Amino acid sequence: MTDPPNSKSAIITGITGQDGSYLTEMLIEKGYTVHGIIRRSSITARPRLDHLTLDPEVYGTRLFLHYADLDDATSIRRIIFKIHPDEVYHLAGQSHVGASFEIPESTCEFTAMGTLRLLELLRDMDPAPKFLNVGSSEIFGHPDDAPQDEDTKMNPVNPYGVAKAFAVQTTRIYRDSFGLFCCNAIAYNHESPRRSKSFVTRKITNAVARIAAGKQDHVSLGNLEVERDWGFAGDYVKAMWLAMQHEEPKDYIVATGTLTPLKRFLEIAFAHAGIDDWQPHVKIDPRYFRPAEPTRLVGNAQRAKDLLGWGPSVNLQQLVTMMVDADKSQSKRRDD
Ligand code: NDP
Repeated sequence: MTDPPNSKSAIITGITGQDGSYLTEMLIEKGYTVHGIIRRSSITARPRLDHLTLDPEVYGTRLFLHYADLDDATSIRRIIFKIHPDEVYHLAGQSHVGASFEIPESTCEFTAMGTLRLLELLRDMDPAPKFLNVGSSEIFGHPDDAPQDEDTKMNPVNPYGVAKAFAVQTTRIYRDSFGLFCCNAIAYNHESPRRSKSFVTRKITNAVARIAAGKQDHVSLGNLEVERDWGFAGDYVKAMWLAMQHEEPKDYIVATGTLTPLKRFLEIAFAHAGIDDWQPHVKIDPRYFRPAEPTRLVGNAQRAKDLLGWGPSVNLQQLVTMMVDADKSQSKRRDD
């Protein structure tokens, strides 16, 4: 059910990504006009947004897309000043931790400096739009304590975490120094059927669907001992919106509070596809090991619960089965 249009408008950077697509759906349902910032690339397919951009009642009336790269401050300035939105959700960035070891400079350019550029623009606006930056559990890297909360010391162990730590801290500085309404959603891993296949969770569910269909024999993975706090992306974008509606700008840990080994994720995925013995279908490939792995990244989302009434609605079992089911039906539709 979609609410009638209201007067609220939002800009989303990273609208073509997993979270961007869920957030767009949610805001449109709430009656917002949504403006997405997209970067120009040679591939124009945006499958996560097709259901919205192909809907004439939505695209061009409630949803608009604008070209700008995060390192192109003049284009972003033009868009933000012209639209002068109520809320800016900053989701864009190089989001792959492993890749950040290969491309550290551009990871920092987009994720760290890209955030600073946006905040500098907002400083010049009157009234300044509310701003939400998506931080990451990777800012904690090797934390002193588990679970982590909003006061846990940052100690990143990869270039992605360093870039996110810069972005989170800069967002805090602009809130405290210039009185801007700036929040951080310090998000732990969140997945969905819309997760890119370059991330290990979706790589697993996609492979499981194909193995069950006899289209593939095994999947190559790195360290199976890693543990993560996994939630559902649809829940996490809700926390982002709630943070923007609270009377005071704050930072929020967005997490389930449950740490699960990757092996368990594998077990659930294979079992749901009717394969009890997953071991013959998994090969360990040292290429997928990271130079440094974060440890005990599990979040305490008590503040989000107390102040925003937020909590996860999807548990790990439900998340994994949702992803495997989606990949099974996609695998059936496509002959790949
Ligand atoms: P995705 O990788 O799915 O989406 C990233 C988005 O950023 C895409 O829309 C991408 O555009 C865009 N982008 C990347 N570089 C640029 C650039 N230079 N200029 C403009 N846009 C750019 O990530 P998610 O949706 O999963 O994550 C959203 C945010 O949340 C990211 O900042 C991520 O780091 C953070 N986060 C995610 C977590 C997770 O588990 N999903 C956990 C913690 C934090 P394009 O489509 O063109 O590639």
